[in-house]
Amino acid sequence: MYFLSDVDHKLLVNKLLPTSREVGISLELRGWSWSSAPLKPYYDDVKIPMYLACSKYCPNNRDVFLNRVQGKRGEINFNVSQGIGLHIAVGRVMGDFIEGKGVPFEDWWAENYTKISNKDWVEPMKKHASLAWEFALTNCKAALANKMSEQPYASDRDTMATALPFLIEHKLNGELVGLSGLLSIDCYDYLHNIVFDLKIADKQEEWHKLYPTGYAVVIESIYEIPVDVGCTVYLSFKDDRLIVKRELFFINDDLRSWWLDERDQKLEIVAQRKDPGIPSKCYEDCIYWKECRD
Ligand code: SF4
Repeated sequence: MYFLSDVDHKLLVNKLLPTSREVGISLELRGWSWSSAPLKPYYDDVKIPMYLACSKYCPNNRDVFLNRVQGKRGEINFNVSQGIGLHIAVGRVMGDFIEGKGVPFEDWWAENYTKISNKDWVEPMKKHASLAWEFALTNCKAALANKMSEQPYASDRDTMATALPFLIEHKLNGELVGLSGLLSIDCYDYLHNIVFDLKIADKQEEWHKLYPTGYAVVIESIYEIPVDVGCTVYLSFKDDRLIVKRELFFINDDLRSWWLDERDQKLEIVAQRKDPGIPSKCYEDCIYWKECRD
């Protein structure tokens, strides 16, 4: 999932990195500027998870009100369930591989499927999880084999750390910038300094870039290192085939300002317990449809 293709590498080296060096980022929009405006959250005592800070599913952000103010959980549908399940599957197989361990897919599935799938979705969920699992595992093995063949005197640890330079499901505290203390990044590539976000979707949306942007800001707030590149990885399925697309981008001032605007709007809804009302048109797959529309 998180290995760049030849084309991705060309884009990174010839376009995104030169642009980020040339254009730069405004100092006040770096995460390490968290103690002053505009990074400093207006409400000190309210924290929200990253998925709500970045979500643009509800045009009025009423999902934030329902979830954080009214404590509603919504009704999980297939797409949401598949998203959760595939994140768990990919995180598990890659995390295990990097730690030098692993279980066969069938064993993992038997142990976990009741947590990620209701009885109506078992078959498609299993098929898709299996495709994503095998794809991730095959790529991990190939990357490690390639690196081993290049460096005969490197230690096993060194080879793994450079073949797969990934922190998978890396845990972060987002409290300095108004977020939850228990954030989890799908993947952070610490050699190329790229934040990855996995999406199970066949349609790319500009606002999906908000997730890597938010995580870049959080990394900067904690580790005080610049993170200038993000990548959204899209998984979708066509018949029995897994389709993977990556969208690499420069986390520029515009994206950072947009992310801050979203964060501030949502913190305000929670802090002021303000119901933003129901928009004229709702997202059809919304898990809160029954709360708002029935
Ligand atoms: S049903 Fe409509 S108003 Fe309610 S949270 Fe979903 S998109 Fe927003």
